[in-house]
Amino acid sequence: MMRLRARWMWPGPGGNVRSNVSVSVDSGRVSSVDHVSSAPEVFMMPSFVDAHCHFVQMGLKRACLDLSNTRSARQLLDEAAAVRSSGSGILLGEGFDDSTWDDPALPSLGDMDAAFPDRPVFLRRICGHMALLNSRMMEILPPGLEGVDEARGVVREEPVLRFRELFPPSEEEIDKATRAAFGMCAASGVTAVGALETLSRAAGLGELVPDMSFACYVPYTDLDALKEDRPEWVKGVKFFLDGSIGAETAATGCRYLTGAEPSLLWDSTELEEALAEVYAAGLYPVMHAIGARAIEQAGRASITAWERSGGTENRIARIEHAEELSAVPTEALDPSFHRLSMQPNFVLNWQARDRLYGAKLPWDAVEELNPFRSVLERGFRLAFGSDGMPFGPLAGLAGATDHPNRAQRISVPKALAAYTTDAAAMCGLGELSTPIGLNRRADLVLLSANPFDSSWSGVEVVATVSGGRIVYGEESLGREVSV
Ligand SMILES: [Zn+2]
Repeated sequence: MMRLRARWMWPGPGGNVRSNVSVSVDSGRVSSVDHVSSAPEVFMMPSFVDAHCHFVQMGLKRACLDLSNTRSARQLLDEAAAVRSSGSGILLGEGFDDSTWDDPALPSLGDMDAAFPDRPVFLRRICGHMALLNSRMMEILPPGLEGVDEARGVVREEPVLRFRELFPPSEEEIDKATRAAFGMCAASGVTAVGALETLSRAAGLGELVPDMSFACYVPYTDLDALKEDRPEWVKGVKFFLDGSIGAETAATGCRYLTGAEPSLLWDSTELEEALAEVYAAGLYPVMHAIGARAIEQAGRASITAWERSGGTENRIARIEHAEELSAVPTEALDPSFHRLSMQPNFVLNWQARDRLYGAKLPWDAVEELNPFRSVLERGFRLAFGSDGMPFGPLAGLAGATDHPNRAQRISVPKALAAYTTDAAAMCGLGELSTPIGLNRRADLVLLSANPFDSSWSGVEVVATVSGGRIVYGEESLGREVSV
């Protein structure tokens, strides 16, 4: 048995913040909630649920060399060379940004070979579309790839985008990445995720990380395998209907400032057929749709497909991102059917005149992106997720409560609901979808301050509890909270 005390507790949607609360936990569940005379200055609430992230991928990224702080070709080589004898196989570095260097000259192939004579090296630029290679790496690239500049040791597009597919991580690397991802979740107060994974990676998750709850969404190409053998935590099938605003491939209703005219990735008839197949298999679709044309297509095609499939119990269609929702005809979506999984951190990172979205799209369209308030007013179910950019709910919530468009701001409890119980409900994780109360699974987070009356920047995760076990938190706090 464990007892957690907190100066403030928010039980979840519909409940008020209470002061001086003690929550007892027995066999992984809440066994009592009591008032006490004093408690440590922490804020207790249901743990976070990230409705959209790439769990294994973020662990793999964490496990490889981070080059995002390098400021010159020399420093890039030195940092990579410092770890060249740790581990074997391909040395993968991520995230250098030569546009921030004083001298943007890239290292030559000769420089790369001098620094790494033996081990294959692949250093990926921050954009994910270009990488620097040494000769050893060049030798093991499969023949016939486009975008390989052998003389300069530079590859673009195909070999970079398909790197993980061409050189799949070993089972050992995946295990390590999975544990690293769990560590990131625990440190961010997250105990459940909606994870976009391939079926082979999704299959091992439940056993590898017993302290996390998963809802996995696998690519359409895995559907046949899924029909044969479906782990219970695989809930749906992922479709890409468009790209991103940054790459000018999101199928927006408004025009791009550069004149780019991206098309939809799916033909509507083919999409309807594929979605019907998903419903018929007892699953539901999870559709990446950022621009208005893609969201409208997702809306209409899923309704048609569900009706065609004969109507299974899964009357659900998830739309991921839905950023340009305001420009979609109202009748294309049905709040009792379509559920919206959105990213407040995108608002914070990019939705401003002098940020990425402002540079790509007309301002009157940018202002209307990510209309959280309208989503709730129209009666849609709304869940928040980070998409790993960066991972961590606390880094994104200000995008919802301090939206640049005042009319689209939502309150602190509504934003927290979208990142906790409502995200759990959308992911089909029923036992985490209810407020803190008797018998609820004890997945809780303790924060350093009360977000109802302090700014997000002053709020940190102090401890994370999953199934009644402290999975993150300092030693001293462990003494404070356990009895
Ligand atoms: Zn994603």
